[in-house]
Amino acid sequence: MSIRALGNGQPVDQVLASMEAMRTDDVRWRDGKCFTLAYSAGPEALALAEEAYRRFSGENALNTAAFPSLRAMQQDVVDTACGWVHGDDNTAGFMTSGGTESLVLAVRAAQKRAQREGRNLSNMNVVLPSSAHAALEKGADYFQVESRRVAVGADWRADVNAMSNAIDDETILVVGSAPQYPQGVLDPIDELASLAKERNINCHVDACMGGVTLTYLERLGEPIDPWDFRCDGVTSISIDLHKYGYTSKGSGVLVHRNKQLRSDQTFITNNWLGGMYGSSGILGTKSGGPIASSWAVMHHLGDDGYMRVTRSARESTLRIAQHIQNHPALELRAQPVSTLLSFGVTDVNRHDVFAIADTLISYGWYMDRQTPPDSVHLTVNAVHAPLVDEFLADLDRAVIESVGGNGTVGAYATTE
Ligand SMILES: *Cc1c(COP(=O)(O)O)cnc(C)c1O
Repeated sequence: MSIRALGNGQPVDQVLASMEAMRTDDVRWRDGKCFTLAYSAGPEALALAEEAYRRFSGENALNTAAFPSLRAMQQDVVDTACGWVHGDDNTAGFMTSGGTESLVLAVRAAQKRAQREGRNLSNMNVVLPSSAHAALEKGADYFQVESRRVAVGADWRADVNAMSNAIDDETILVVGSAPQYPQGVLDPIDELASLAKERNINCHVDACMGGVTLTYLERLGEPIDPWDFRCDGVTSISIDLHKYGYTSKGSGVLVHRNKQLRSDQTFITNNWLGGMYGSSGILGTKSGGPIASSWAVMHHLGDDGYMRVTRSARESTLRIAQHIQNHPALELRAQPVSTLLSFGVTDVNRHDVFAIADTLISYGWYMDRQTPPDSVHLTVNAVHAPLVDEFLADLDRAVIESVGGNGTVGAYATTE
């Protein structure tokens, strides 16, 4: 631990120059070198996202009575998301800061519903496949609910029978993903939702990755198993806008089947000296930046734009998946349902997939490593289309160069 004094103020140009110098080693996601963490629908959409964010970054959506602009934009964004997931007049949601806040709130909403309905539970649990996102673990930890993980099947999809067996009288929530992050496959949402409906408990669909992509893939004519409110029993769905909505960071939507279920995610109190205080999610002060950026990009791209970027990301994904499948040293974990895929090696005595990742990173690419099993994960988006050939050539080269090497075990995120 060290202590640093701020010192005297510096001119704007100097401050900006220092920041630009600090970012020289950052991954070049705008150039398509990065298969995780950042997304680009092209320079024009990016510039608009940043400009809209800049104009509203100081506005505060904690109280939209003061900012009717933010109220209108937020409502419009949520209503559009409700349409994407086949909601109806009862469907209602709120914008969140992204997938993690949405999932944490989905756990809290299930817990609050159980309390609201007078269920006297001392050891609440959520039943979720081993593939479901880590943020659900965070939600279970925050609210002291047991996370009951159920191993996925050989196809990496949620095992409905095993999940059914794991549910008991203290289960408050069943989760499925559309798609799940690690292997990019779609859980059998319809069947999971039925399990929840039979027991009158919540079923959350984590469509943080697929909410936009699966919607537009279906409109493009791809056969996609049902995963949204068309599945009877689904009570809430999370959709990230800062991923395949191509907006600035800090933007997601959590939608509920009706307003009563939505009320389980909100908090209101007057138990202090400051009067009535209510908020829809975890944040208090809430920047207008992500709201404005989302509204701007969504209206700039429109349905035709989302079809275009979705088709592009999907085509790149399929080309990469095909190449990996044909590669004798590489093993595609599963056929991707949307734009996420992962792969390992066919012979772990000869190759280490993390060494391959190290080599690719030394070439200037960036990607996630995950385990179990040891795999490289690619999140493919619209920025990648012009680079697929170059990436695949580098992948082939990296496989050869890293024979016998030992790679670095990576972590998805750090707590430094
Ligand atoms: C990214 C992701 C999340 C978490 O979202 P953040 O926006 O990173 O907080 C949740 N679920 C899935 C499937 C994801 O891919």
